[in-house]
Amino acid sequence: MAEKTFKYVILGGGVSAGYAAREFAKQGVKPGELAIISKEGVAPYERPALSKAYLFPESPARLPGFHVCVGSGGERLLPECVLLILLPMEISFNKRHPQKSEFIIEAQLIVTGIALILNTEIVKADLATKTLVSAAGETFNYHFLIIATGSSVIRLTDFGVQGADAKNIYYLREIDDADKLVEAIQAKKNGKVVIVGGGYIGLELSAVMKLNNLDVNMVYPEPWCMPRLFTAGIAAFYEGYYANKGIKIIKGTVAVGFTADANGEVKEVKLKDGRVLEADIVVVGVGGRPLTTLFKGQVEEEKGGIETDSFFKTSVPHVYAVGDVATFPMKIYNEMRRVEHVDHARKSAEHAVKAIFASTEGKSIEEYDYLPFFYSRSFNLSWQFYGDNVGDTVLFGDNSPTSENPKFGSYWIKDGKVVGAFLESGTPEENKAIAKVARVQPPVESLDLLAKDAEEEDDASQEPDNNTQLGRQFISPTPVVSIPPLPVMSDAVPSTELNQTVLAITELPLGEARVELDADLDDLFA
Ligand SMILES: Cc1cc2nc3c(=O)[nH]c(=O)nc-3n(C[C@H](O)[C@H](O)[C@H](O)COP(=O)(O)OP(=O)(O)OC[C@H]3O[C@@H](n4cnc5c(N)ncnc54)[C@H](O)[C@@H]3O)c2cc1C
Repeated sequence: MAEKTFKYVILGGGVSAGYAAREFAKQGVKPGELAIISKEGVAPYERPALSKAYLFPESPARLPGFHVCVGSGGERLLPECVLLILLPMEISFNKRHPQKSEFIIEAQLIVTGIALILNTEIVKADLATKTLVSAAGETFNYHFLIIATGSSVIRLTDFGVQGADAKNIYYLREIDDADKLVEAIQAKKNGKVVIVGGGYIGLELSAVMKLNNLDVNMVYPEPWCMPRLFTAGIAAFYEGYYANKGIKIIKGTVAVGFTADANGEVKEVKLKDGRVLEADIVVVGVGGRPLTTLFKGQVEEEKGGIETDSFFKTSVPHVYAVGDVATFPMKIYNEMRRVEHVDHARKSAEHAVKAIFASTEGKSIEEYDYLPFFYSRSFNLSWQFYGDNVGDTVLFGDNSPTSENPKFGSYWIKDGKVVGAFLESGTPEENKAIAKVARVQPPVESLDLLAKDAEEEDDASQEPDNNTQLGRQFISPTPVVSIPPLPVMSDAVPSTELNQTVLAITELPLGEARVELDADLDDLFA
């Protein structure tokens, strides 16, 4: 069987792979040095699109429209330009220097040669001999390996759930899964869908199925949706909003079995509480697992992922791990963490490549200093979260699901500091501002004088703000974060303490945090 050798191999062809490839190109990788090996049949793309615009009934997103690197504001890598990997960078360069376009296109043709090896599953990895073997028996040798295998979905068949292998029970991870769902949506027009799971996939899929005019039931065991991130107060908004859209939410129970018709197609979902739901389509979103099995026993693991240092170097020389599979030092919290989100996939990949090039040149780069960032979109809603969701919470703003323009957020406060911030329907500036709060972690103290000032400020801004509907300006252009005194609810803080906390937070970014806020914004998002 064929044997190929590359200086650099990225194993996996997802989000991290795409951003790593772009960074390789920036760093000046030479033709023939880099290969991306992917079991998928398409070039790296922005995976989050699969549960959103890819399933829209009208003008759905389709490749090449969402190849990486569109998701972070870059230009996308088209399949053909992974071989011509400089293309995306050069296009953006073009925009700034249109007069140089001819030169750039030539340059891009000269500096090419990244091998994109698709439809190729690696079934064996030997880190000692630096070889990978594909299902078809091909061997790939590497000098540097970047493990970017991402996650796989947890299947109900893994737990032996009765009937879980029926037709029309779907999972969503890769573009092939999304294509199957599109076919099912078309085949079962106006049919009934049961969504199993109340996390990201559950919420996004319920919304998109409703947009496709399907009858949607959502089932999850927890007391509210997205319990790993949302507080009860945040979740109440989304549950109410979804209910108003006609989505039926069934909480506190799980799917324990499925019945199928004579064709083997799912017909019913049996719930633990005895209820039975009719279903033409079932979508299961109950979590994922990092794909690390190929490397078991060969590399140190931690918290379910492959342990890395702050440069994504694993315990094995010349082997790096990025994206969903990496458990890395989260500097800001002084803790090893694994993050299954796209922003980290992009940034960790870029960081690893920079580190590889720096190490070969005998240079050093800064440690990865990541501020967690998660987001989701459904219907007309869009939220962002930055930081850590630990400690007490303060909910603010208009979180009424019936509001015409709902806009609300939450802060998480731990050890006297704001450590996390969530905002629904924020403007780009507001989202940047909450990111800064989560990064700067302003202390939260109750200072009477400041509280008085804050009250005065509130009195001076009784008129509702047209942009925010929050009753006062939420984030000023400076930007100074102000939390409106009302309406405020909290899951954790008693109301008297809450008011003090709110007023204290209102004031604190005016002081020391401002110094940081005026610093180079890019530093905070690097
Ligand atoms: C439907 C969906 C929606 C999402 N939405 C959001 C969102 O809104 N916001 C957010 O922050 N995050 C979201 N995520 C999570 C985000 O997409 C992931 O965290 C991110 O894709 C991880 O990047 P990665 O490169 O580590 O893995 P992936 O992008 O999953 O790429 C892994 C790649 O490796 C390949 N691979 C795996 N094993 C092998 C093998 N043995 N041989 C060859 N190839 C292999 C896979 O086929 C895949 O191409 C979503 C995820 C999904 C599935």
